[in-house]
Amino acid sequence: MAQYDYDLFVIGAGSGGVRAARTAAAKGHKVGIAEDRYLGGTCVNVGCVPKKLLVMAAQFADGFADAQGFGWQVGETAFDWSRLIANKDKEIKRLNGVYSKLLDGSGVETLWGRATLTGPHEVEIEGKKVSAEHILIATGGWPVVPEIEGSELAITSNEAFHLEQLPKRVVIVGGGYIAVEFAGIFNGLGASVTQLYRGEMFLRGFDDDLRPALAGEMKSRGVDLRFNINATRIEKRDDGLCVHLTDGSQVIADVVMFATGRAANTSGLGLEAVGIDMDEKGAVKVDDYFQTSVPSIYALGDVIDRVQLTPVAIAEAMVLVQNLFGEGEKLSMDYADIPTAVFSQPPIGTIGLTEAQALARGEEVDIYLSQFKPMKYTLAGRDEKVVMKLIVERKSDRVIGCHMLGADGPEIIQGLAVAMKCGATKAQFDATIGIHPSTAEEFVTLRDKKN
Ligand code: FAD
Ligand code: NDP
Repeated sequence: MAQYDYDLFVIGAGSGGVRAARTAAAKGHKVGIAEDRYLGGTCVNVGCVPKKLLVMAAQFADGFADAQGFGWQVGETAFDWSRLIANKDKEIKRLNGVYSKLLDGSGVETLWGRATLTGPHEVEIEGKKVSAEHILIATGGWPVVPEIEGSELAITSNEAFHLEQLPKRVVIVGGGYIAVEFAGIFNGLGASVTQLYRGEMFLRGFDDDLRPALAGEMKSRGVDLRFNINATRIEKRDDGLCVHLTDGSQVIADVVMFATGRAANTSGLGLEAVGIDMDEKGAVKVDDYFQTSVPSIYALGDVIDRVQLTPVAIAEAMVLVQNLFGEGEKLSMDYADIPTAVFSQPPIGTIGLTEAQALARGEEVDIYLSQFKPMKYTLAGRDEKVVMKLIVERKSDRVIGCHMLGADGPEIIQGLAVAMKCGATKAQFDATIGIHPSTAEEFVTLRDKKN
């Protein structure tokens, strides 16, 4: 008779939780998973997937404009938000089904409902108690909304995916991934967008040659981008939502969206009751092996607030399952050189150190920078430049940072990320033959040093 109901019980069927559950079950272990909202978690339902579909929808605006220079006569265009949202919802439903089949197919038992920890080896779901040798908390994150007067009148990205109609006027507060991506989405689809960022320049942590370049492109596409400003109060008026700003001015909007970060989703989880330590921001504290302060309970993904990205949550899950159920030495997660993209318009793709980070480390570096008009924009008549940048460690000649702003940036940087992970040098980049004509070939022909 087994001591526990499950070998592993996972709370949260998102990116990390599903991967951990499936791989553990595939190794022959008895696994259960609890989910109270949607299979696939944030990424599939209110994150990466629907976001990218909306970004793609918004990109058609550029396509229609650019087509004319190539001889196309584009007739009057019209956009139907309801059709886009309905088609997006259909695709997500399909993906929910895929996740359900993946879990069932690997033998994972899915329990619907909100889970609460009731002991080091025990979880309660809707009044039902189950026991497990190991428990994994993979409950993700939830939007944080600043506590200002009237903030309850605003939405977050969660609601943005389900608006009944495309708002005519949108105010977006924040200067991170979500704010920048949604400014591009609403603007591309035809709304009038004001984006407010509290600091000097948005996308803190990204390379300083790309941030202002993106700001310029967004402004030239019509986004009213304002820096060093914030919302202080939101008031409902007959003509819309009035957003009061720190400089004393006001903006009227139909929708106000806060994209001001996400915090660990742990409400009602029972962490305190079982003695799990959290950091000052409420994220679950774990060691190098994702173990919490309660040895039988693990946590990974957004709830530990290390790197809030889907492929990271998945990679952490693979490491955990290998350590719990595999053979050989314990692994720890490699967080070095994680490539990432901002699906802004135009997008950013990036990996490794920014120029500022490399200099702050005291590295002797060579900086290669190129800004040019890609071929497509010549006939299109688009006044938009691609920015490409390599940071090279002088002593080893290794490329330690690779950044791009421009169409296909995320696709191009994903390929270069493999080279960087392999420790490629600038000489090896230069020895690589370019693909001509392409934008990407510039990365293997970069000669001009910035410094
Ligand atoms: P989640 O995917 O959030 O899954 C957690 C699951 O746990 C949820 O399904 C939730 O309902 C469930 N849950 C929570 N509490 C309980 C409970 N007590 N009982 C039962 N179930 C519970 N990342 C990228 O890499 N690329 C992108 O382009 C990208 N775009 C994004 C766009 C947006 C708008 C947002 C919000 C995020 C985006 N992300 C993106 C981040 C990515 O979605 C997350 O990093 C990822 O989903 C984290 O996975 P996770 O497993 O930690 O948590
Ligand atoms: P981010 O942490 O990226 O950005 C939050 C933004 O809100 C920052 O500009 C921050 O300013 C600002 N902010 C925070 N608090 C306030 C406040 N009280 N008033 C005004 N502004 C404030 O969070 P997001 O919500 O954009 O996204 C959450 C995470 O999800 C991302 O960090 C990312 O990991 C992930 N994600 C990934 C995507 C991708 O891979 N393409 C897309 C979307 C999300 P400051 O910089 O000054 O602190």
